[in-house]
Amino acid sequence: MIRTYDVIVVGAGHAGCEAAAAAANMGSSVLLVTLDMTKIAQMSCNPAMGGIAKGQIIREIDAIGGYSGIVTDKTMIQFRMLNKSKGPAMWSPRAQCDRVLFGIEWRRVLEGISLIDFWQDSVNELIIEDNVAKGVRTKGNVEFRGRAVILTTGTFGNGLMHIGRVKQEGGRISEPSSCGITEQLKNFKFETDRMKTGTPARIDGRTIDFSIMEKQYGDKEGGCFSFLTRHNIKTNQCCYITYTNERTHRVLERGFKDSPLYNGTIHSIGPRYCPSIEDKIVTFAEKNKHQLFLEPEGKRTVEYYINGFSSSLPWNIQYEAIRTIKGLENAKIFRPGYAIEYDYYPPYQLNATLETKIIRNLYFAGQINGTTGYEEAAGQGLIAGMNAHLKLNNKDNFILKRNESYIGVLIDDLVTKGVDEPYRMFTSRAEYRILLRQDNADERLTEKSYNTGLAGHNRLETLKKKIDNKNRLKAYLKIQGINPEEINEFLDEKKTNKIKQKVKLFDLVLRPQIRLNDLLDFLIKIGKNGFAKEDYTIDLINAIETDIKYNGYKEREKSIAEKIERLEEVKINECLNFEEIKSISTEGRHKLKKFKPGTIGQASRIPGVSPSDINILLAIMGR
Ligand code: FAD
Repeated sequence: MIRTYDVIVVGAGHAGCEAAAAAANMGSSVLLVTLDMTKIAQMSCNPAMGGIAKGQIIREIDAIGGYSGIVTDKTMIQFRMLNKSKGPAMWSPRAQCDRVLFGIEWRRVLEGISLIDFWQDSVNELIIEDNVAKGVRTKGNVEFRGRAVILTTGTFGNGLMHIGRVKQEGGRISEPSSCGITEQLKNFKFETDRMKTGTPARIDGRTIDFSIMEKQYGDKEGGCFSFLTRHNIKTNQCCYITYTNERTHRVLERGFKDSPLYNGTIHSIGPRYCPSIEDKIVTFAEKNKHQLFLEPEGKRTVEYYINGFSSSLPWNIQYEAIRTIKGLENAKIFRPGYAIEYDYYPPYQLNATLETKIIRNLYFAGQINGTTGYEEAAGQGLIAGMNAHLKLNNKDNFILKRNESYIGVLIDDLVTKGVDEPYRMFTSRAEYRILLRQDNADERLTEKSYNTGLAGHNRLETLKKKIDNKNRLKAYLKIQGINPEEINEFLDEKKTNKIKQKVKLFDLVLRPQIRLNDLLDFLIKIGKNGFAKEDYTIDLINAIETDIKYNGYKEREKSIAEKIERLEEVKINECLNFEEIKSISTEGRHKLKKFKPGTIGQASRIPGVSPSDINILLAIMGR
């Protein structure tokens, strides 16, 4: 035994890194034990952070005081705001990152936090006394005592990898699996099960004919994730698009007899929304091609990731199939794709703090809770790290509500509904999407985190400045009027009705055809610059425009959220026959009948039961 720590974090993946940083930054002494210090925050699959709903999670982690956004900003090679053609509730930032630099940067961050110690080894036993976690024992027979333990071992628990008929124990390619903990926890009556995931081959960029592929650059203006990064990052390395074809599919089919997915070797369930290429050609048999993205693995490597081509077929079949694809006719692969099966712990065994219900002071975060994705893992790690620290210091829990954050939605879904397949976040899982936008994560969460002791003063100051700037511009738009002769030409150009008398600028921003940034530029052009545009980034201007245009929706969601919160415990009459309530959506009726919720709160969380279904139920119950 070397010394006693407040918090011991097992595993330095995305969950473990956020957990260790959060607990230490709040004042706990932390030991981070991990299998391999050179693989800290390794991106096991695609070299990208964010994406639909996941980008919102990264913004939330940042707003609370985590590092995933900062590390992404430091290592990104391309930035895109996805879903820009849709409403702002759907906008989601996504960045390609340099895989190697991402891990190096995370390690730099962690090594910069003096309260974190490191130990490289495999934990194969938890020290549990009187149903309380008291530390860990490693394979090298070293014992560390801790007042709380956070387990974040990802895909490593009894990991078994498959490439065709070849099976190999391991937690990730060329890394060992970890064993001992699942077996021990089963003795404490934990339920465990198996899930699977997979990854595609990586190919040699020197052998790809990029000239015949579609190019996909990021946003010209760049972008960033962290609210502390005050400028857009403009590195814009190209990705490429190509497609499978019927020849590719025929080659892949030849491997099915050796596929662990189809010959009965793998029984566990994989991520439905990230299917393997073999799953895709079976499920969508009518499709004669599938889109693939070739994503660079970094700035200083020729390695490319084939997004959309995850496979566990024999390596030679993967190789042959890849060479049927336009632009990849001469491709060489660095390593084939593979599938991996691993242990997870159904998350209904956790409280909303991510502490287990069976063993006190033991927390689970990340992929071991049945989720998939770096962002989902990081969000859980942050919450587990904060709550472990808070509990040790007899302080109130840090629990996020569904109307406050995607992280709140994620954890509430996990602990109240459990999972029956790898859980990934989607915007459709959130009831209050206009409230939970990527641009306002700081307004939702930074002050709450500051008051709990994580977000630093600089974050709060940055937030206050942002809110001041927002209010200043909104006030200007509300006060400042404009005459028809000044603005009508501009309105005509934007294909919106001309005005007949003086109107306030604010009312013009409400029009769907008017973009606030264009309007401000026009005002400057005609010499009306009473708003100091230089104080505003394009992101802030877009956020202000969203506040103005969507205020009605926002208020409506807020009032539904408040109503549902008040009615959380309202009991639903057991005799209510949902089938007869035709005003409830068909899906809503079906789900209500199946899950038989006891309270309005539970009903409101069933996927497929919409806020308006809840309103109808409330009306029927006389509320
Ligand atoms: P991990 O990132 O797996 O980190 C676990 C950490 O724990 C590692 O550092 C490991 O060294 C350490 N560790 C494990 N056991 C021990 C032990 N006993 N003692 C000490 N340290 C230990 N996600 C997607 O969203 N889409 C995908 O398509 C996808 N495909 C994937 C394919 C593969 C092959 C793999 C391996 C993962 C894939 N993922 C995918 C999942 C993604 O990598 C994870 O969701 C994410 O990395 C989970 O983060 P985590 O922190 O929970 O665990």
